[in-house]
Amino acid sequence: MPQPNKVKFDWWFYIIPVLFVLSALFHYGLYNAPGILRVVIYYLGPLLVSALAILFIFIGIIHALVKRPFLNKKRLISFGLLLLFPISFVVLMNTNGNIMAAFPSTHANYKSKVSYRLPLDGDIAVAWGGNSADVNYHVIAPDQRWAYDLLVIKNGSTHTGSGKNVEDYYCYNLPVLSPADGKVVAVYDKMQNVKIGELGAEPAHGNHVIIETAPKEYMILCHMKPKSILVKKGDVVAQGQEIGRVGNSGNTSEPHLHVHLQDSKQLSFGEGIPLYFSNYYKNNQYIERGMPQGGVDRNNKLIGDVVRNAP
Ligand SMILES: [Zn+2]
Repeated sequence: MPQPNKVKFDWWFYIIPVLFVLSALFHYGLYNAPGILRVVIYYLGPLLVSALAILFIFIGIIHALVKRPFLNKKRLISFGLLLLFPISFVVLMNTNGNIMAAFPSTHANYKSKVSYRLPLDGDIAVAWGGNSADVNYHVIAPDQRWAYDLLVIKNGSTHTGSGKNVEDYYCYNLPVLSPADGKVVAVYDKMQNVKIGELGAEPAHGNHVIIETAPKEYMILCHMKPKSILVKKGDVVAQGQEIGRVGNSGNTSEPHLHVHLQDSKQLSFGEGIPLYFSNYYKNNQYIERGMPQGGVDRNNKLIGDVVRNAP
């Protein structure tokens, strides 16, 4: 009589269904848990699942070395399935961190009582901004869910000359104006400008100011010009007051002002809040309150709204 295949799954195989359940729980939590838990899950969930999978791959290898033969069909399946977790994590990291269309912030339907003005005067081009990924690449980041990147475009370009120097850029050195009355809760002003196109500088926000504009409402303004910040922690600022100048510090591809609203004064942590601007013109049409949009066309040409603060 031929022996039936009596090879069983090793005990460590059973972590795999646990990891699938854990992944499903995290996914559910991301869309249903209270705000701060969503942020924690967003940053740590995939990491935890991948780390557990790798740990059990090592345990499996050691076990297989002791209990020979090293490989059988069921061990192959076990190793293959375990590898799926870290591989999908790496794939997600390389597709900009997430497969979500946008971070599911609990503040999605929140409308601030504060009237925010545009933080720059004159004709301002919205490179990125708005509610969806096609017009705003920030939407996948929890804190920057409704962030804007603002700059100036003239004759179809953001700069004059070669564009190799920060001074070539039309928005460079423009006064940054406080979008609302508030209290400065943090200032960072220690960075130099980065070279044009030199990405990855830390801290990513560069020289920045954080203004508390309402309870649990913090305005973050980033990448400012070195030594240009005029306010310090504890200062009370008025809407429209100059707080610094547009620069190219931090993780930035070219001079621009990054601005967003979040529910925590902790940088890179917390949930984004929809940021609407009040009293401005969009391509010469008056807008009482709105969320300007950014975006690019197929040739990577900026085609977002051009807005101007109304006097
Ligand atoms: Zn930005």
